[in-house]
Amino acid sequence: MLEAREACSGATGRNAGHCRPDAFRGFTALAKIHGPEQAMKILQHEKLVLDKVIDFISTNKVDCDFDLCGTFDVCMGEDFLDYVTNAFEEFKAAGGDASPIRWMESEEARKVTRVPSALGAFEWKAASLHPAKLCQFIIRSNVKNGLQLFTHTPAVAITTVTTPNGVWQVKTPRGSILASRVVHATNAFAPTLLPLLSGKVTPCRAQAHKIIPPRPLNSTNLLTHTYSLRYQLHHFYSVIQRKVDGAIVLGTSRGMPGMSEETRREITGTTDDTKISEEIRKDGLASFERSFGLGDGGDGMGRQIGEGEEFGWTGIIGMTPDLMPFIGPVPSLHGQFVIAGFNGHGMARIFDCAPGLVKLMDGGEWSDTNMPECFQCTNERLEQLSK
Ligand SMILES: Cc1cc2nc3c(=O)[nH]c(=O)nc-3n(C[C@H](O)[C@H](O)[C@H](O)COP(=O)(O)OP(=O)(O)OC[C@H]3O[C@@H](n4cnc5c(N)ncnc54)[C@H](O)[C@@H]3O)c2cc1C
Repeated sequence: MLEAREACSGATGRNAGHCRPDAFRGFTALAKIHGPEQAMKILQHEKLVLDKVIDFISTNKVDCDFDLCGTFDVCMGEDFLDYVTNAFEEFKAAGGDASPIRWMESEEARKVTRVPSALGAFEWKAASLHPAKLCQFIIRSNVKNGLQLFTHTPAVAITTVTTPNGVWQVKTPRGSILASRVVHATNAFAPTLLPLLSGKVTPCRAQAHKIIPPRPLNSTNLLTHTYSLRYQLHHFYSVIQRKVDGAIVLGTSRGMPGMSEETRREITGTTDDTKISEEIRKDGLASFERSFGLGDGGDGMGRQIGEGEEFGWTGIIGMTPDLMPFIGPVPSLHGQFVIAGFNGHGMARIFDCAPGLVKLMDGGEWSDTNMPECFQCTNERLEQLSK
């Protein structure tokens, strides 16, 4: 395993920790792009992934602050309310199982979610965890099982070496490795060594903040659920309160209306995760306070010393035009495989996509995996996305 920086220093070690299947909301948009059958399969796959994460963590007793809990999609704007209630109807009409999903009208939603301006809310099962702890556990176990891990060792080129086995030579600044099979598990960075994914996987910067909760959300007042506070389909904030220490992880909105052109340019097409945006920070913290009625959206949280934002950070996510990752053999590069393009939603996908990829590498067919067909990295899909 070659890692350009420290182990688990990419998005996985920086994410907000939401392991949250989309229960139904994405159905309408996904059905438009991939058809209703694939859309349903995508949603079912996310549910399966949560089950696999639960199973892995409990079987291996992974210490990663895992919290299996309920989650809310809180409707914060009329636009989103219309959109999501329609998506729920379409999901049900297409045969989707609505039994694990609870809908609440505004009065009930306000009481149950503790969001005073909620226009309605949906509830279903999800989980939160400390993603770096989970990832480090997996890497440590693999090292025990013989994995050789080379950190600060970027792969800079892959060339063919003429042997009967068609071996690949992976070059790094520390020397080269010969391998018959190479997996590009580099998410947003995949196009660097796979030019055929250029323009198909776009790096974007996502930003999160850790908040030490003020009195209305601390001690015996902890939030019992995780949240997506949704104003519009692409304008939302995620909120997770860790049970272990009460700290809140706030995922900021990358679709906030009125975002300056400068910020939009800065967070799109970049692999620089060393900076945070002050504009996104201010918007996120103010919105968080407003949502939970903590103040005037400015500094009005009524904070005591030590409460409020502790720090913020960013990480790079890999966006694809059709919202789905690329998994499987790389066309025309026999022995090279890809698993990349998780659209800021990898925690709801990777735990099954990685085992699925291994099945394919061992000669299995796509139908031997649980993955929706639209995840395949085929020439047809690449051509379609080039149009
Ligand atoms: C702030 C933030 C919040 C998020 N919140 C959530 C969330 O709540 N729920 C959710 O589902 N998802 C969330 N995500 C998205 C999630 O983190 C990603 O989808 C997931 O971690 C992708 O995993 P990955 O292993 O594919 O990529 P990464 O974890 O980014 O790993 C790719 C690795 O490849 C390495 N690399 C790149 N190029 C090379 C090279 N040439 N040679 C060697 N190594 C290389 C990188 O250094 C990196 O470590 C969030 C992301 C961020 C940044």
